[in-house]
Amino acid sequence: MREVDVTPFSPERLVPLLRPERADEVRELTKLAHDAFESRTIWNVSSTAAGGGVAEMLHRFLRYARGAGVSSRWIVIDGTPDFFTVTKRVHNRLHGEPGDSGDLGATERAVLRKVIEENASSLLAMVGHDDVVLVHDPQPVGLVPAFHDRGVAVVWRCHVGTDSSNEWTDQAWGFLRPAVEPADAVVFSRRRYVPDWVPGDKTWIIPPAIDPLSVKNRPLDHETVLAILGRAGIVDHDGKGASFLDDRDQRRAVDMEAVIVREGGPLDPHVRLLVQVSRWDRLKDMAGVLRSFADGRVGVETGGHLLLVGPDVCAVADDPEGRAVLAECTAMWEALPAEARATASLVSVPMSDLDQNAAIVNAVQHHAAVVAQKSVREGFGLTVAEAMWKGRPVIGSAIGGIQDQVRDGVDGLLVADPHDLGAFAAAARALLGDPARAAKMGKAAHERVRDHFLADRDLGQWTALLASLGRPGA
Ligand code: UDP
Repeated sequence: MREVDVTPFSPERLVPLLRPERADEVRELTKLAHDAFESRTIWNVSSTAAGGGVAEMLHRFLRYARGAGVSSRWIVIDGTPDFFTVTKRVHNRLHGEPGDSGDLGATERAVLRKVIEENASSLLAMVGHDDVVLVHDPQPVGLVPAFHDRGVAVVWRCHVGTDSSNEWTDQAWGFLRPAVEPADAVVFSRRRYVPDWVPGDKTWIIPPAIDPLSVKNRPLDHETVLAILGRAGIVDHDGKGASFLDDRDQRRAVDMEAVIVREGGPLDPHVRLLVQVSRWDRLKDMAGVLRSFADGRVGVETGGHLLLVGPDVCAVADDPEGRAVLAECTAMWEALPAEARATASLVSVPMSDLDQNAAIVNAVQHHAAVVAQKSVREGFGLTVAEAMWKGRPVIGSAIGGIQDQVRDGVDGLLVADPHDLGAFAAAARALLGDPARAAKMGKAAHERVRDHFLADRDLGQWTALLASLGRPGA
């Protein structure tokens, strides 16, 4: 078990980026949070500090909660490979996919219980009776009953879900239900993800949002974008001036290089890029993007290039599928005809320095002409809001949280069937081949994020939820 440190930012720093009428709301929210949580700590428990949407959300949450003077801490539990195999199975099944052929029964419960017990004793010793605990996702869900039994207010935040149920979702929910039921509140990204046995008065719908001041989302000028991508080995540039502002507002150099599968050397900076940034997870369908781009001859016909960008697969502890998915994508790429192979690259960004990783992802998203999120399942998809905030149009599958963000034909294009490779290729060709249309959609996308998906909105909802929990015995 370890604690993650996050630098506080006053919520006031968000104000210049918001619509003017939101400024007073942010100030009221800061005061409300401060008053409701005087002398109480908000604990967050997750299973990874990096490499996915949950980690992004927790950085944002802690930074502004602490900036508002609310004591907030973030603990990452330890797990074993067996534990993460089971929790990945639960994750896939909550999305309606089998994932692997394993079971979710007594043996798997025992695997989870052992890890949870090992983590619970130190956690229970740290948490005060008046505190509140937010448990994130299925991995640490077994801690919910442990806190409940101690009389500590506990919230379970489920970051995944699917719009319709099937035998796999039923199985996964049956497995999780005993751990979820004692929670004082349960938070989902979309109403359709809520299982029918969660009582309405415990249910909160809080779609995620992005932090416009994070290293990942801060503005970068064009020269700096090229320098960062040059230094990372992605585009042809000498890399001079490859730097970014970190959370302490200090300028830091980028010196990490990505591991890239491609033909030839770094890309010409003028080539228009279609980019998908994702963990190497089957449900993100990196392979489907590659197949569609290659078979649809999108790069060959438009002169564009596909970049599939993900984290170094050795680095995301709670995602055991990563290596296999990257290997599958690499094998698919190697088997492509030479002409198509030259129009696509697979990029793994090191995670050894998370700020540099974020700066490289930021530069990649800025440099994209069009961003894709062709997931076959997607709880929310922070990568979509991140790209839209940078003024990039998004081609996404019309599923899960993607359809809540992208308005088809306005901020990008939605593909109705996530398995329709031809439709995806047509959308990619349309936007890569029409810079004026792509730029117009990118502008709309930026405004859409300002209105609905910036941190002030979800922090407001979280404050309302946490303030509603009250103190035990009060
Ligand atoms: N991400 C990253 N580095 C990578 C790949 C992804 O920092 O190499 C980030 C990405 O920018 C986004 C998050 O991981 O902030 C993914 O969140 P999303 O909600 O899109 O998907 P999840 O991984 O939670 O399923």
